[in-house]
Amino acid sequence: MKAIVMKRFGGPEVMGWEDIPTPTPGPGEVLVKVRAVSVNRTLDLDVRAGLGNYGTTLPHILGVDPSGEVIEVGSGVARLRVGQRVVAYGGVRCGGCEQCLRHDYLQCVQPRMLGVQSWGGYAEYLCLPSCNWVSIPDTLLFPEATLVARHFPLAFGEARLAGIKEGEWALVMGAAGGLGSCIVQVLKTMQVQVIAAAGSDDRVETALSLGADRGVNYRRQDLEGEVAGLTEGSGVAAVFENVGDPTMWGTAFKSLARGGRLVTVGSHGGGMVTLDLRRLYQNRLQVISGLGGERMEDLERSLQMAAQGELRLLIDRVMPLREAEEAHRLVEKNESVGKVVLDPTL
Ligand SMILES: [Zn+2]
Repeated sequence: MKAIVMKRFGGPEVMGWEDIPTPTPGPGEVLVKVRAVSVNRTLDLDVRAGLGNYGTTLPHILGVDPSGEVIEVGSGVARLRVGQRVVAYGGVRCGGCEQCLRHDYLQCVQPRMLGVQSWGGYAEYLCLPSCNWVSIPDTLLFPEATLVARHFPLAFGEARLAGIKEGEWALVMGAAGGLGSCIVQVLKTMQVQVIAAAGSDDRVETALSLGADRGVNYRRQDLEGEVAGLTEGSGVAAVFENVGDPTMWGTAFKSLARGGRLVTVGSHGGGMVTLDLRRLYQNRLQVISGLGGERMEDLERSLQMAAQGELRLLIDRVMPLREAEEAHRLVEKNESVGKVVLDPTL
């Protein structure tokens, strides 16, 4: 089969379009013909560049959220059949822990991230344990299912970690971005009052069109003052900060109400920030990492909601997988609104 293989870390040019053996499904495994996989700043671009301390080994194949069609099932697989449309759940068994030895792979205590610590979906075919494949509702297209899998389960997980409730105020930084746009929508399904913050008027407009109650352009407006005005001086109960820009992080942190929570699971804006410890303990604030907040039931619920038209899925464009290098350059420029998706069959 053809796949985009990285033999070293570096710029987009390290990704080669190569022939490698097509995997065959062992017992309990399912082989899928990939039809869509997304390109992400925080994961794909950082992993490719060798940044972020992800523990990726070479050679490597990127691709965290592939969807496609079941081609072959291994022995003992009853829950999926050939021809079924599926999307991957990105936590792959370690194979060695107690839970894995009991074949309880979804409870694995050290799951590897698909496309980061194990070979992912930048390939014509991908073989995973059957429990890692989730059926896609008929009305969803492959790029849509991939986009749902990429961000919505994490958005639900982050909302859960933040402990945000109906009627409370939340601030979403990078609200038009891949994850931010999903967090805005998840919070609105929970009847949270959402302030969407983004770095340009266009991006603020995008977030408002997704249901955010108010928008702030943090490059042009005083974010802290705007938040104070909207919340009658009290601040927000939760901040979703997945940018990690050192010039903006402190302002987002200052927007928290007493007892507020800042949840973070991204750092493409730099990642090295300063923390006002006095404010942290005096105001009983919490900074929480969203990693690990994702669950299989969040993915299933997100797919159902998307199929019922309750979620808006922003897809910038679908490109052939062999043009991964160009797709990475495009995403690096940060000009796309919505996800860039790769399709090996184009
Ligand atoms: Zn395990």
